[in-house]
Amino acid sequence: MKVPFYDATREYNLYKPEFDKVIADVIASGAFILGKQVQDFEESIGAYTGAKYAVGVANGSDALVIAADILDYTHGAEILTPVFTFFASTSCIARLNGKPVFCDVEEDTFCMDMKDAENRLTDKTRGILPVHLFLQTADMTACMKLAEKYRLTVLEDAAEAFGMKTMYKDKCTHAGLIGDFGIFSFFPTKTLGGYGDGGMIVTNNKELYQKAKSYRTHGSTIKYHHDYIGYNSRLDTVQAAILQVKLAHIDKAIQQRARHAAQYRDMLKDITAITLPVIKNGNTPVHYVFCLKAEKRDELELYLKEKGIGTSIYYPVPLHLQKCFEYLGYQKGDFPIAEKLCKTVLALPMFPELTEDEVSFVCESIKAFYQR
Ligand SMILES: *Cc1c(COP(=O)(O)O)cnc(C)c1O
Repeated sequence: MKVPFYDATREYNLYKPEFDKVIADVIASGAFILGKQVQDFEESIGAYTGAKYAVGVANGSDALVIAADILDYTHGAEILTPVFTFFASTSCIARLNGKPVFCDVEEDTFCMDMKDAENRLTDKTRGILPVHLFLQTADMTACMKLAEKYRLTVLEDAAEAFGMKTMYKDKCTHAGLIGDFGIFSFFPTKTLGGYGDGGMIVTNNKELYQKAKSYRTHGSTIKYHHDYIGYNSRLDTVQAAILQVKLAHIDKAIQQRARHAAQYRDMLKDITAITLPVIKNGNTPVHYVFCLKAEKRDELELYLKEKGIGTSIYYPVPLHLQKCFEYLGYQKGDFPIAEKLCKTVLALPMFPELTEDEVSFVCESIKAFYQR
């Protein structure tokens, strides 16, 4: 048996006539840039997440840059953000000449440690960029307390967080809708993933929405009249059509992921060399990534590879030790928890169409490794 880490073709084969029809419809319509399907999909995302406003852009990384630009994470503004995440969470600040101020993460949830963040505040701090990683949101209650106390804006990197919810002020709220802006990525592997790149900016603030909409088309609201120096970053119409089909099946897909996660938990719970993921802060998780902490991680990874099991390491290097961020002046040892996680985390295969037998095979293989 071979178990891929991720396989997009299974879902396509399941719903092939639906996908083929909507793709053909876009091509037949001849309207490729910001076609009707983009607006329809934005409305559907609003309805699903509770966002008042949604703006489709080319990818999640662009969504971050555009939102960070609008919130003025520029000119040396210090932005508190976790050191253990995907590169784009930080590069959006650095690219605009804002200053990323890294914070360590919680050892159990992998999300930004808001107490560490408070210790790193200065009079130049302007914003917080929390990341909702792997299966749950960061502690948004603590984040918003900090933001309110010090009058900071909040940009939620919800790239991985489609479908995740958290309790905020006694309300179950979708990820990305508590701060000023939230962003989603529709990169193919994401919970709601397209057949190419895609992203979205969400907000409940009308003024921010109008700016985001203008920024994605070169800062213009009327063609060839430019109020801002914006970007060329639009959600592709074909991708919007594909994503609309996927959104119709998303609840089932999320349930299937949860079922695999429950099976992993059940079958791996007695292995002492493994720490299973923990869910906190009143979060409703979505199992975008099933990430373990494992002893002898590198050997385990190799062993599983030889068995034909795909795994992934999110993330092998914390951001403060990336070459391009040397100029920020951090040292090895500055973020002990993130550095430790980079050496122990291992993500197992996780996508809706995995089978029970495949998950069993992964678990049996892990057991066999530790029993050698
Ligand atoms: C995937 C991801 C992004 C970037 O999204 P793209 O659509 O690939 O540009 C940003 N932040 C995090 C945390 C991600 O996982």
